[in-house]
Amino acid sequence: MRLKHSLKQGIFSLLIIISPVLTTVPASAQSQILRTETSVQTQEYGDIWEYRENYVPVEYNPIPEFMVFADMTILIFLIIIGLMFVIGHKPSRWLSVLAIISLIYLGILRGGCICPVGAVTNITMGILSPEMVGLATVIIFLTPLIIALIAGRIFCTSGCPIGAIQHLMYSKKRRIRIPEKINKILRIVPVLILAATIYAAVYSKYYLICELEPYKAIFFLGKSWTGQIINFITGQSVEAKLLWAMGITAWIYLAVILIIGFWIPRPFCRFICPYGVLLGFFSMFSIKRRSINGEKCNQCGLCQRACPVEAISVDRKGKTSSLSHYDCIQCNKCTDACKKGAIVFKGLRYDKSANDPKNLTL
Ligand code: SF4
Ligand code: SF4
Repeated sequence: MRLKHSLKQGIFSLLIIISPVLTTVPASAQSQILRTETSVQTQEYGDIWEYRENYVPVEYNPIPEFMVFADMTILIFLIIIGLMFVIGHKPSRWLSVLAIISLIYLGILRGGCICPVGAVTNITMGILSPEMVGLATVIIFLTPLIIALIAGRIFCTSGCPIGAIQHLMYSKKRRIRIPEKINKILRIVPVLILAATIYAAVYSKYYLICELEPYKAIFFLGKSWTGQIINFITGQSVEAKLLWAMGITAWIYLAVILIIGFWIPRPFCRFICPYGVLLGFFSMFSIKRRSINGEKCNQCGLCQRACPVEAISVDRKGKTSSLSHYDCIQCNKCTDACKKGAIVFKGLRYDKSANDPKNLTL
């Protein structure tokens, strides 16, 4: 039984490592071909290159133009409400409501491209050539990072449509814990992807992370359908070919990540997302922070079992518990699980227990 379980864990870990490779090679090959094809063929494929030209916020110019304000307002609104829910110790299901709104509006209706994750490339290019990046992109990129400096990775649960899919799929019951050593190795991958994203942006203006993002197949399909439904209602032409988005590779990649995510929570966030590295880094210096009150905690491990990103470690022998601010995505599931009220969210200045090295790890 134990052997079977370890084998399962090994297979999933391997899948996580190779899944970006699975998609990158064919996607880049496909993109190479698409760049040389006519725009009519490109539309037919519904590939990311076609989508990028129209929707990725290089200049961020969605039609109608006022939508840029609607999108930014909703994103900022979700993050601020999320911040209030997290600091107010509200149940995790309250944050799930924000995740659902983010998934439906920013993901399915707006195509998932109102996205700080993809904006890593835009901002990198903008640092070199400021005319390549619009103010809206800068705001979308910076807002979650500024909020992370206040209270951690609020955006990851409350505002990110990519995170929302994974958040809503999470189940404590079927979750498999990745062995610590493998987990440590896998956590280096997003840092490497961040470096590769910056390198690709500087040297070829290539949106590496858009290729690696698995949920775009769902988002692009949602966006296509939204546009077609609006066209239908307003009496404009409806194009049958746009009722399907992305190629077979993208859908296979999505299926692989969804299957992994069924047992291993948040695979994209934990092992791929380069923006998560930046959010994690900023969270390490946040003014208000989640911590475990050493006096109340009895090391029962309930919070550890509830945490989807393995941000909590409990040492029963040493009678200590610690929480990684880099990893914590502010989902409040540990607060729900703890029966002793030991998970607290306080400002560093006022919370002596949060400064206790036993209770804080980065
Ligand atoms: S880690 Fe990345 S993808 Fe996941 S929720 Fe955070 S920003 Fe979104
Ligand atoms: S420690 Fe884990 S369970 Fe608690 S809020 Fe952070 S990510 Fe969620």
